[in-house]
Amino acid sequence: MSFNQSASQTRRVAFIGSECYPFVKTGGLGDVMYALPRALVHQNCEVRVILPYYNCIPQKFKDEMVYRGSFMMDLCSDGRTFYVGIMETVKDDVIYDFIDNREFFDWGNPYTGLWEDIPKYCFFSKASLAILNYLDWIPDIVHCHDWQAGLVPLYLRTRFAETPVGRAKSIVTIHNLRFQGICGIEHLKYWTGLPDYLYDYPVMKQSESDANMFKGGLAYADRITTVSRTYAEEIQTSFYGEGLSGHLYYHRTKLSGIVNGIDVEQWNSATDKLLAAPYDMNTAVERKRENKRALQEQLGLTQDDSQFVIGLVSRLTDQKGLDLVNAVFPELLDENTQVVILGTGDPRYEDAFRYYESANKGRVCAYISYNEALAHRIYAGADALLVPSLFEPCGLTQLIAMRYGTVPIVRETGGLKDTVAPYDAENNAGNGFTFDRYEADLLLGAVLDARTLYLEQRERWDDMVRRDMEKDVSWANSANQYLALYDELASEE
Ligand code: ADP
Repeated sequence: MSFNQSASQTRRVAFIGSECYPFVKTGGLGDVMYALPRALVHQNCEVRVILPYYNCIPQKFKDEMVYRGSFMMDLCSDGRTFYVGIMETVKDDVIYDFIDNREFFDWGNPYTGLWEDIPKYCFFSKASLAILNYLDWIPDIVHCHDWQAGLVPLYLRTRFAETPVGRAKSIVTIHNLRFQGICGIEHLKYWTGLPDYLYDYPVMKQSESDANMFKGGLAYADRITTVSRTYAEEIQTSFYGEGLSGHLYYHRTKLSGIVNGIDVEQWNSATDKLLAAPYDMNTAVERKRENKRALQEQLGLTQDDSQFVIGLVSRLTDQKGLDLVNAVFPELLDENTQVVILGTGDPRYEDAFRYYESANKGRVCAYISYNEALAHRIYAGADALLVPSLFEPCGLTQLIAMRYGTVPIVRETGGLKDTVAPYDAENNAGNGFTFDRYEADLLLGAVLDARTLYLEQRERWDDMVRRDMEKDVSWANSANQYLALYDELASEE
């Protein structure tokens, strides 16, 4: 991996968010919180990642942590105070500080429902700034992720304005706008202890009765980023804006899009121990066939490497465009095609895919669970990966697929549009197959185009496999863009 050594001075950045691989991960946010700090420490940055000390963090990681201190912190409007403990570990030059409080973080999962989550992340946002002062580690930038860290910019400019950390600038990154932390105004006033003037329409007020934590954070942040340029544009429209399009349009001059990368060490088909036959660009075409056979064997599919194998690795929710897949599923299948689905989520989709499996034994596998190892084997063994999302802020699965020489078939939205160039037959160029409007027929058309190329012009297909593997999907580029933003912000008065 080569990084441009930045000529800029050392930047101190505090990442604040609710999940981070390998400690706790439920989705793409966890991947970004892991990979971006690691890329930034190669770019002359000191990075601390601040996370809740959830009970569900595996014991082996807890055993590696050291206790860095504790204090009591006032939080609520009635002056109620809470214990804040700091547990720390260091991995590859990134420092991870976990905020310990059993009352808030002893639940089984990170997210348990808004009733518990609102107080939990009010406490987390305030404690994140408090520990930076306590540790006497004052960052240039506090980089906040999603609604769970949404109150940080508000605390920074109010309760912490006259403290050392108050000199930091703030960035809020939107990974998923669907979740915003909305609750009754009085409930939030009690738990935050923040001044009343913040509960006005330009900041946190959502309606006569409700307040919105993320809305407030976006208003008070010095910069807002989201995880692709297209999504940055889309969220200023009502279809994608999740009720905040007007607010984001108002703040558009501080909004930009920086596409995610993937960790190219974690996702490396040449060294991936989970694969039946690891491969690089030169061996991909032949070895992917071996991986396909191993996948077919593991999943009870007919073993035949001439089959066009379509993979789908996804949370099974409306966001992921599964109603389109559902609508055309019978037409996707033919005697040359197999489909492998890995995911969990909405029972409606789980049941539908289970049905298609039972009706098409040997040709369809619906593996309804979360399984990291199988995900790797699908990325290696499938020919194409389907990502027909209704909306997709960035999307990681299409990036992983390309890195593994699996051709993505995607809808042109958000990061899918920004990262997958459509196949251009005239110039034998492009990375995958795409369709624009959210229509099942268009999805079917894209799949049929892909299958036709695979079956009838295999050399051209193989060229695309190699082009995809060659494409730079690492964090290097994006980390440079974040660094430029940090530099720009840090130099502002
Ligand atoms: P989102 O964050 O919206 O779920 P992304 O595409 O940004 O979607 O990230 C999804 C990540 O989760 C990828 O790393 C993908 O491989 C992984 N993933 C999704 N579903 C599963 C599953 N059932 N088993 C294993 N990994 C999964």
